[in-house]
Amino acid sequence: MDLTDYKEIRALLERHGFRFSKSLGQNFLTAAWVPQRIAEEAGLDEQTGVVEIGPGVGCLTVELAKRAGRVVSVELDRALLPVLAETLRGCENVEVVFGDACRLDLRALAAEKLAGLRPVVCANLPYNVTSPLLTALIEAGCFETITVMIQREVARRLCAGPGCADYGAFGLFVQWHCVPELLFDVPPSCFVPQPKVTSSVVRLTRRAAPPVSVRDEALLFRVIRAAFNQRRKTLVNALAAGLGLDKAQAEAAIVRAGFDPLVRGEAVGLGGFATISDEIHALRSVDL
Ligand code: SAM
Repeated sequence: MDLTDYKEIRALLERHGFRFSKSLGQNFLTAAWVPQRIAEEAGLDEQTGVVEIGPGVGCLTVELAKRAGRVVSVELDRALLPVLAETLRGCENVEVVFGDACRLDLRALAAEKLAGLRPVVCANLPYNVTSPLLTALIEAGCFETITVMIQREVARRLCAGPGCADYGAFGLFVQWHCVPELLFDVPPSCFVPQPKVTSSVVRLTRRAAPPVSVRDEALLFRVIRAAFNQRRKTLVNALAAGLGLDKAQAEAAIVRAGFDPLVRGEAVGLGGFATISDEIHALRSVDL
């Protein structure tokens, strides 16, 4: 069966009485080159264990199964379980797990199901939960690479640097932990039903160590969030408001870190934020 052929998918789903759910971000691929290319870009071999989120009817799952040692696919829609039992019959190295990937302990899942293999993630993610899922996958701390299809707009944010309109706190979080690469775009015409937006495939490769050193990582991310919560303000005002500093303290930290007192957060790179965070950390009298 061709799991990307629209007619075959429709007949299969009708036979199982399946209805698409918008709230589960169900846009299934109908262009064979897409799951093939995503699986190729995931860098799989016999030594790799893949966590897939949202197998749908299994078109990407079968491509992963051909290339990896083992695949564990987490699906939240119970109605898809009998469909997957049919489409993945013969894929001996695949296990489908029913559950909500946003709530599962993904590190424990990988340790239990993929023991002895190099754990990676590869998926066409449900777009309504892209950010929490990516956060959970990165925070799991065990996946060497995360190769996923997401909305192009989000993909651009993950890869953006200072001065770009897409630059922000989420991209900095991702770049702190991973090296992101924008691989290729996929138009809405490659899905059923068609999403309203273009999609992109990105690969996040876990860093062995953060790109710059910082005294207090939690404080660094408080600084970054404060800077972008009020991105139109100067960094002095954004940090004063977001961290409860007085303006003179915020300005002193920013100037000591080597920035103009009128700088905005969107012009400061990860290294700059780390230096500013360390200067704020040094204000020991401040109750943060
Ligand atoms: N992999 C298939 C493909 O490429 O055609 C389907 C991808 S579709 C964009 C997203 C899939 O994720 C759907 O099968 C949906 O039911 C499932 N899903 C949605 N939310 C989920 C969650 N929180 N945990 C696990 N699966 C989820």
